[in-house]
Amino acid sequence: MIIGLTGGIGSGKSSAALIFERLGIGCVDADRVAREVVEPGEPALAAILDHFGAGILTTDGHLNRAALRDRIFQDDEQRLWLEALLHPAIRQRMQQQLAAFQSPYALLVAPLLFENDLDQGCDESVLIDVSEDIQIRRVIERDGGSEAQARAIIDRQMSRADKRARADHIIDNSGTLAELEAAVVALHHSFMAKLPTQSPPGPTS
Ligand code: ADP
Repeated sequence: MIIGLTGGIGSGKSSAALIFERLGIGCVDADRVAREVVEPGEPALAAILDHFGAGILTTDGHLNRAALRDRIFQDDEQRLWLEALLHPAIRQRMQQQLAAFQSPYALLVAPLLFENDLDQGCDESVLIDVSEDIQIRRVIERDGGSEAQARAIIDRQMSRADKRARADHIIDNSGTLAELEAAVVALHHSFMAKLPTQSPPGPTS
């Protein structure tokens, strides 16, 4: 069973994922996988180099993200080419990592779970949900920056109402971290109860 975990910036996804991990649940971070597939030595980076030329790399052979952004900015054809390359590579690696866990179920943590339709590959989805005011306060406390910057990031993400409508489970994280932990533990128990019970090994003949 794969559970998709999402929420807007500063909603508490990472905090919730950490609690699931402490309960023994394997977590894959979609953003981390997206960075891994373009590391030096990866086939996707070789394809990007082939397509865009050497200017797409930094002097130490890593992907120059700013240069890549410039190349696909306002060029739909190039952006679609890149997405057709990266999306399958990211999905494949996520699936490999999720399948490798020994835990009873696994978690896919993705800020853009719904935006990128990643919930379609999950059995159930969980939204960590807080009001925009709390989101902004926690983002500023965590990352610094201004309220306007935090609001601009939130405005680019799918609306809270749309995410709430799409999620199978919603955890309200407007309370304390202890309350978040209690909500995660309760959900974990409900997932465990849905799993097929392991039958004891049969008699050997
Ligand atoms: P996300 O991964 O969704 O961006 P985080 O888990 O990093 O969000 O949470 C954002 C910030 O808010 C972090 O500094 C985290 O420690 C803090 N935080 C998360 N949940 C709570 C809570 N219930 N009470 C107080 N602070 C919280």
